[in-house]
Amino acid sequence: MNESVQSVSRPQVEAVWVSCLQIIKANVPEQSFKTWFEPIVPLKLEGNTLTIQVPSQFFYEWLEDNFVHVLRRALDYAIGREGLLEYSIIVDTGGDRQQPIRVNFPTTKSPDIAEFRKQSPPDFRNQQQPRPKENANAPAETYLNPNYLFDNYIEGDCNRLARSAGMAVAKRPGSTAFNPLLIYGGVGLGKTHLVQAIGNHIKGHLSKTVLYVSSEKFTNQFINSIKNNTLQDFTEFYTKIDALILDDVQFLSGKEKTQDTFFHIFNHLHQSGKQIIMTSDRRPSELQGLQDRLLSRFKWGLTADLQQPDFETRIAIIQRKLQEEGINIDYSVIEHIAHSANTNIRELEGVIISLMAQSSLVRRDIDIDLAKSVLKDIVMAEARVVNIDTIQEMVSDYFDISVADLKGKSRVKELVYPRQVAMYFAKELTDLSLKAIGANFGGRDHSTVIHAVNSINENMVKEDSIRDTIQKLRSNFV
Ligand code: ADP
Ligand code: MG
Repeated sequence: MNESVQSVSRPQVEAVWVSCLQIIKANVPEQSFKTWFEPIVPLKLEGNTLTIQVPSQFFYEWLEDNFVHVLRRALDYAIGREGLLEYSIIVDTGGDRQQPIRVNFPTTKSPDIAEFRKQSPPDFRNQQQPRPKENANAPAETYLNPNYLFDNYIEGDCNRLARSAGMAVAKRPGSTAFNPLLIYGGVGLGKTHLVQAIGNHIKGHLSKTVLYVSSEKFTNQFINSIKNNTLQDFTEFYTKIDALILDDVQFLSGKEKTQDTFFHIFNHLHQSGKQIIMTSDRRPSELQGLQDRLLSRFKWGLTADLQQPDFETRIAIIQRKLQEEGINIDYSVIEHIAHSANTNIRELEGVIISLMAQSSLVRRDIDIDLAKSVLKDIVMAEARVVNIDTIQEMVSDYFDISVADLKGKSRVKELVYPRQVAMYFAKELTDLSLKAIGANFGGRDHSTVIHAVNSINENMVKEDSIRDTIQKLRSNFV
């Protein structure tokens, strides 16, 4: 190390790491934060280089593969653009003294970070594509995750139609009957992976422009373009793409202006033989708050669903994942995982990853006991996902009424009160707009939702029984 490089005191190093953690915490799910960032120990800061200690080589690789962008952002914030990260990996010497051996891997080793540093001109810029002004200074990219491929998308009964339609579209975008292609299915069933695999295939095999965008980001870009008076740039940018992938269209629910613009872009792309690929967490007929004219366009192409993975597919996914990581575990343990983590693939992956992390932390092979303890934590935590559907189900359950009645037209007191409670929690616990919440309650107006929330807030102060009800229900959610 260069003599002139200044090293700083321990509390300062920790303060820098705490700043990094602030950014990281805001950007990764809680479970990942606990698993991957809490075990890290900041060691030193020399010049611009922060050294952190990680428990194993696997940990280091995982961080680099999955969190490199958020780490970069954290360094930008805590140290500045020139900040660098080095890893010190504790290597198990096999002896009884667990002497840490330091192996420093400068982050420049990672192609991702190298990419970041160079800010190499991405596809769109090469092809003179205009970009929304909002991003004018950011590196343009397709926003595709290179790890989401057909090769590692396991085929099963649960995804056969969607996968083969996706493959057809990937080979001949815009030239099949599947335009648009809409993939729907519950959370964690592989929608994003599949549509990104299509995007990656097109990018790798054809000279066409592909763009992946979440509906949330699309909406934000749209709003910014209105603010900055660049709506024309925004629309022009999107209408020049050959294959547009819009993830989670249910997010557009209730957002009329964004839908209007998407409708316009959709028509333009479709007429010019460009491919549109979308995902949704529910079937189109259940997409409340989406304009009929959009929904009717979705029917022009193919709608394919992803179902919960069956046992055999779960086994295959676990085996594939372990194989990728070069880990061997007993078949009986694999079976046990496949039996227990049976709701969706994200949960299944969460279990496998935590198992690998745990086994590298406690330096123990993955056996049935370790599997059981990890499964207990994760499967239970995952079960507590809160969205508008779970809120409606739990509130209906609590008041012993049906979800249909909760959303229905009747204004009898026995239904109005539970309905207001459910709207109150929807406002508090989800990111949905008032309009979208109203739409999810039988197409009610946003003012009804405001009224419900106000009414519950006021009555909670006046009536103990209402406050109790809200508290009891809240403890079920959080
Ligand atoms: P969704 O978008 O439906 O919520 P994702 O596409 O994010 O779900 O999938 C969740 C996780 O499960 C991802 O890590 C993805 O790679 C993995 N996954 C989903 N389906 C498959 C599959 N058929 N084979 C392998 N991995 C899968
Ligand atoms: Mg997704």
